[in-house]
Amino acid sequence: MISLEQQKNPNPEDFPSELQGLRMTKQRREVLAVILAERDHPTANDVFSRAQDRMSTISLATVYNCLEALVSHKLVRQVNFERESSRYCPNLSDHCHFQDEESGKIHDVVFKEGVKLEDLLELPQGTEISHLEISLKGNFGK
Ligand SMILES: [Zn+2]
Repeated sequence: MISLEQQKNPNPEDFPSELQGLRMTKQRREVLAVILAERDHPTANDVFSRAQDRMSTISLATVYNCLEALVSHKLVRQVNFERESSRYCPNLSDHCHFQDEESGKIHDVVFKEGVKLEDLLELPQGTEISHLEISLKGNFGK
């Protein structure tokens, strides 16, 4: 299977008819393509307005439904920052999110090579982590 994470500006028509067990409807293709295209962690509203450029008939409710399906089939990650609207990230490898307080932009941050979560945290022995969500806020310094 093609690696979606590596694709830049994917063509929605190129997606297989099914991904991770999810049937790829026309709307789901558009929504996934929007999220893969810019990787700037858009909100549902951002996705909606971008999807509308290509598919003028798509509704916000449909976009929400598509996002939910893509998230539950692990094709896209949902990212939450406190009380802000959820954002969507196509990067499925283990990473954290860093929000630049000045611009509000969210950046992917990866672990240093070789560093594992178990090296940083006092986890009970045998713990298996099934979901990782680390959100950081700050600035890049001057
Ligand atoms: Zn991300």
